[in-house]
Amino acid sequence: MEISGMDELGIFAEVESQARSYCRSFPVVFDQAQGSYLYDLKGQAYIDFLSCAGSVNYGHNPKPVKAAVIDYLQRDGIQAALDMHSRAKQEFLFNLRKIILEPRALSYKMQFTSPTGTSVVESAIKLARKVTGRQHIVAFTNGFHGMSNTSLGLTGNRDNRQPGVDPYVFRMPYDGYLTGLDSVEYFERLLNDNSSGMDLPAAVILETIQGEGGINVASADWLVRLRKLTAEHDILLIIDDIQAGCGRTGTFFSFEPSGITPDMVCLSKSLSGYGLPFALLLHRPELDQWSPGEDNGTFRGNTLAFVAATKTLQEFWSDDRLVKHIHANETLLKTWFAKVTERFAVHIKQVRGRGLFYGIEFYDASLTAAVTRACFTRRLIIERCGPQDQVLKLMPALTIDADTLQSGLASIFEAMQQVLECPPSSESDTDTDTLRFTNEVSHVD
Ligand SMILES: *Cc1c(COP(=O)(O)O)cnc(C)c1O
Repeated sequence: MEISGMDELGIFAEVESQARSYCRSFPVVFDQAQGSYLYDLKGQAYIDFLSCAGSVNYGHNPKPVKAAVIDYLQRDGIQAALDMHSRAKQEFLFNLRKIILEPRALSYKMQFTSPTGTSVVESAIKLARKVTGRQHIVAFTNGFHGMSNTSLGLTGNRDNRQPGVDPYVFRMPYDGYLTGLDSVEYFERLLNDNSSGMDLPAAVILETIQGEGGINVASADWLVRLRKLTAEHDILLIIDDIQAGCGRTGTFFSFEPSGITPDMVCLSKSLSGYGLPFALLLHRPELDQWSPGEDNGTFRGNTLAFVAATKTLQEFWSDDRLVKHIHANETLLKTWFAKVTERFAVHIKQVRGRGLFYGIEFYDASLTAAVTRACFTRRLIIERCGPQDQVLKLMPALTIDADTLQSGLASIFEAMQQVLECPPSSESDTDTDTLRFTNEVSHVD
């Protein structure tokens, strides 16, 4: 590509809004991607441990899904369809029920919302308020639910929140937020005490593992008790599985190990399996009290995403190969964590997560930032999360092969050695001419 009179990154700084974010951590122009590798304009390869915040859990451009998408485009399959009946939607409805819901004994109606995560959260809350006739929603410390008004009101982070966002939010401590406080017990007391100051909420919304909030894991026991309490008080339980779902934690839904059945489940990010915008609200059939068009939107369902998602379910979820692969990779990760927590014990506060959704929390957030920068100079794409961005967030593709995973982990280890063991003496870790690359791989063909 020829852009005359500008350097490679110039156009972004000159023309694109300050709102841009991830690109600031990775100042190159990406062009191609395949599996766990991204390629920049020069054809240099990067290992991806970010997976677009969990939007490409099956790697970039997974080949069987790509073939289904190309075939659909090639035969002029209908793309824009509003929410009219399409064969693509028909096949998705059928396959999600058959491959995911029925084997898990789940019975949900499927509502396609506008195709982003925040839209599905908005629809879930709107429905909960409509069905219960109540306003208040319980959300948790460090929760992240998106950036539009209602979702932002539910989100914990002060830097993201703005004055005037949805005010009917009652904030509760997440599992483990305060040592010695069992927040389900606290919640129960508030509900049973007429003078506690808490109005009976319409719903409780939470992530079972908080992604942006720092990979905080709710225990199965806490989830089970929360489910019981909400059921007793006729409060709807909404699981936001936008990031933790679609296999990220080792099962399709993140709540499966706890055995709970939420009243509603929000899915988006990796649902299409191809990084295409797509969002789905699952809700118990009795909650389906919408009148036609009441929760409207032009792009509800994205036909190409239906096609990709159907192929993804058939390819990755109709047997247990992917789940076994995730577990094997998790075992490898755990072995590596044992090594790093011993080696860098003074700097690492905690390692936590499940499946291929892990965080390494450092005591000092500036070290986390330095480690991610040092990873990037080794051509590893990795991000941070948590209230101070103090947690290094490991989210490789679920399909990553052991060699690539090991190679990425080796880059993190080297980055940690560089940052944690050799105090910075020069600018050399940002000088791209002096870098040693550990990920020598050939360009995508
Ligand atoms: C990403 C995310 C959202 C918001 O999704 P968008 O597509 O960015 O609107 C909501 N909840 C969780 C848990 C997320 O990770």
